[in-house]
Parts: sequence; C-alpha cells; structure tokens
Amino acid sequence: MDRLIYLDHAATTSTRPEVVEAMLPYFTESFGNPSSVYGFSNSGKEAIANAREIIAKSLNADTRDIYFTAGGSESDNWALKETARVYKTKGKHIITSSIEHHAILHTCEFLEKEGYEVTYVGVDENGIIKLDELKKAIRTDTILISVMFANNEIGTIQPIKEIGEIARAHGVLFHTDAVQAYGQLPIDVNELNIDMLSASGHKLNGPKGIGFLYIRKGIKIRNLIHGGGQERARRAGTENVPGIVGLGKAVELAISTMQDRTSKETLLRDYLIDRVLAEIPYTRLNGDRLKRLPNNANFSFQFIEGESLLIMLDMAGICGSSGSACTSGSLDPSHVLLGIGLPHEIAHGSLRLTLGEENTKEEIDYVIEKLKEIVQRLRDMSPLYEDFMKSNKR
Ligand SMILES: *Cc1c(COP(=O)(O)O)cnc(C)c1O
Repeated sequence: MDRLIYLDHAATTSTRPEVVEAMLPYFTESFGNPSSVYGFSNSGKEAIANAREIIAKSLNADTRDIYFTAGGSESDNWALKETARVYKTKGKHIITSSIEHHAILHTCEFLEKEGYEVTYVGVDENGIIKLDELKKAIRTDTILISVMFANNEIGTIQPIKEIGEIARAHGVLFHTDAVQAYGQLPIDVNELNIDMLSASGHKLNGPKGIGFLYIRKGIKIRNLIHGGGQERARRAGTENVPGIVGLGKAVELAISTMQDRTSKETLLRDYLIDRVLAEIPYTRLNGDRLKRLPNNANFSFQFIEGESLLIMLDMAGICGSSGSACTSGSLDPSHVLLGIGLPHEIAHGSLRLTLGEENTKEEIDYVIEKLKEIVQRLRDMSPLYEDFMKSNKR
C-alpha cells in the first residue's frame, strides 16, 4: 500500500518545514549557551525571548508568566503537584473531571496517595462537565480546579469561561490542560480567568519534547527543577533552544492560520461525520456535535472491535486511533467513553479520526469507502451481529 492517510493529529502532528528551518541554526552556528555572558550566546537568548513573546501574546498573557517545559505531561505534573504542595496549608482538596488526560488523572492518583483528596466531577453524555456538580464539590479546603480545555479523545470543548468564573468567585486556583485546544481555538487567559495553562509543541505542528506552562503572576508554585537560574529559577537546566524556537514558530503559524485552517477542517469534519452516520448503520458519534474541536471525529460502531478496525484501516494505509495513544495496547476501554456513559461493548468499537490541514476531501472520500467495507467485513464475522440480524428479521 503506497498510500498513507494520516488522521491521528490528536496523537501528534508533523513538524512544519518552516518550523524545522527556524530551528536548524540553533543546533549549528548559534549553539551558544544562552546563560553565557559573551556576545556569541546572544542570538539564543534573543530567540528564547522572541518565542516567549509570541506565546504570551497568543494568550494575552504577560511574557514573564510563560515557563518552557518538556511538554504537556510535564506542565500538567508541575501545575498540580507543585501548587498542591504550596497551598496544602490552606487545604488538600483538588477538583478535576473524570475525563482528563492521564497526565492529569495519574498525577491526581499520585497526590491521593500523598494524602490529598480529589473529587472527579462527572460529565454529561456529550462529555461536558456538570457545572452544578462542580460548584457543589467546592469546599473551604479546595485549593485547585483542573479541567481540560478540550478533550483529546472525543473533542468536546468545556465551558472554560464558566469554570473560570466559578473558581475565581470561590478563591480557588484554576488550571486547564489546553494541549488539544491551543492553536485550534482562541484563548485569552484574562478573559477566561485561567491561572495556569498547559500546552505542548507537537500537537500544533511544532517539535516533540517542548511545551510550556503559563503561571499567572502571584501564584505560588514550587520550582520544578532546582539548579541554575533558567526560567526565573523555577525550571532549571540549559534551555532547549531549538525546541523553544520551533515552538515559537509553530505558535506563530498556528495563530496566524487559525481562522482559515479551522474553518476548512470543520467543513471536512462535518462532511466525514455526516456521511459516516448516514452510510454506516448502527453507528454513533461520540462527543458534542457542536462544542467540539474543529478536527475531531469519534465514532462507535456496534458489533465490532476497535482494535481490529484499526488494524484493517492500517492495512488500507489509514492511521486512526481507538481513542488515546496512551491506552492503545491495553484491553480496557477508554475512561472517556465510559465517562460519557457508553457501555463497555460500545466503547470497545470506537474509532477516533483527527484531521490536519493537509487532509483533503478526496482522502476523506477514500476513508469513508474503506470504512464502510471494513465495518461490514468485521460485522459479517461477528456472532453478535448475526444474532442481532436474525432477531431483527423475525
Ligand atoms: C498529548 C496530550 C498531553 C501530553 O502532552 P505531551 O507533550 O505529549 O507530554 C496532555 N494532555 C492532553 C489533553 C494531550 O492531548
């Protein structure tokens, strides 16, 4: 199979050629350590400052509040663990949602073992957090609310403004994992009352292993890595200059192309969703129809196994996912799909397709034809489907 159709942009994206080009000089001619005093190291120092400014501007944030990290997972860990430690004199209660990324959920489980209490607020059938439950969960000892901006599996966008208002009104810190939303949706940390925000380069056509945490001025947080004075001494270690430059370039491109790119993706997404639902019976769309990321489609096909579907799609040159790259290979259905109330057998038959700007309608047409063929072939082998069809005929 020569053809490759990449529809897993929620797992990672290609690094754009302009980004790679911007990075290259910082491996070679401009390799100086940004902390050095001689003039030779200035270009690295300036490049970091420039990237920080681009990112701050993209969020309407102060440049001093952007801290570079090694990606989304590190930013999530830092935000949760190190504010929890500082604010434990006020309380040891944290609120999050039941459908967070594992970088949040596993950090919360770790904190629970350290004596913190975590409330996992539920979501409705489309994956939207229950705001009344969230409000009720707030106690005098609540120190932090962490709710993702948009979900990586089903694409649902959370009511971030409302959550920010609730958190602010109760004097509780608000962190959001915006790894999927950043670059796809406009974000203003002031308008949305966001105190901390995590983002990652490789989800927006930047390099892997670089991201940032926005930390609003005045928030007390323990330093993540002790050592030199980099990142205002909060995260020590010689900066990943090429990575930071690449991230800055990727953000610049993502912001300047956002409107055109996402409206094109939304059209293609809706075309894919409408045709799959119309042409493949016993299929449902997971996640909110409207409050969803421009590039996300997530389906459940009754009577089939998501893993078999992925393998057969792979043989047809199509890269999709069963939900989350982190849970692939495990036999448990996704916690997100269970969180929106799907029964195990339906959750097992799920497929996430996430678009990127390079995908074309012609590719989507091919994917839909292959999907129809493969779903039918798998159903023809399924005893459950056979029983169902027999009982339907009677
Ligand atoms: C990918 C992802 C992460 C992890 O980011 P890395 O940079 O890969 O560590 C965290 N949260 C969400 C929602 C993600 O999609």
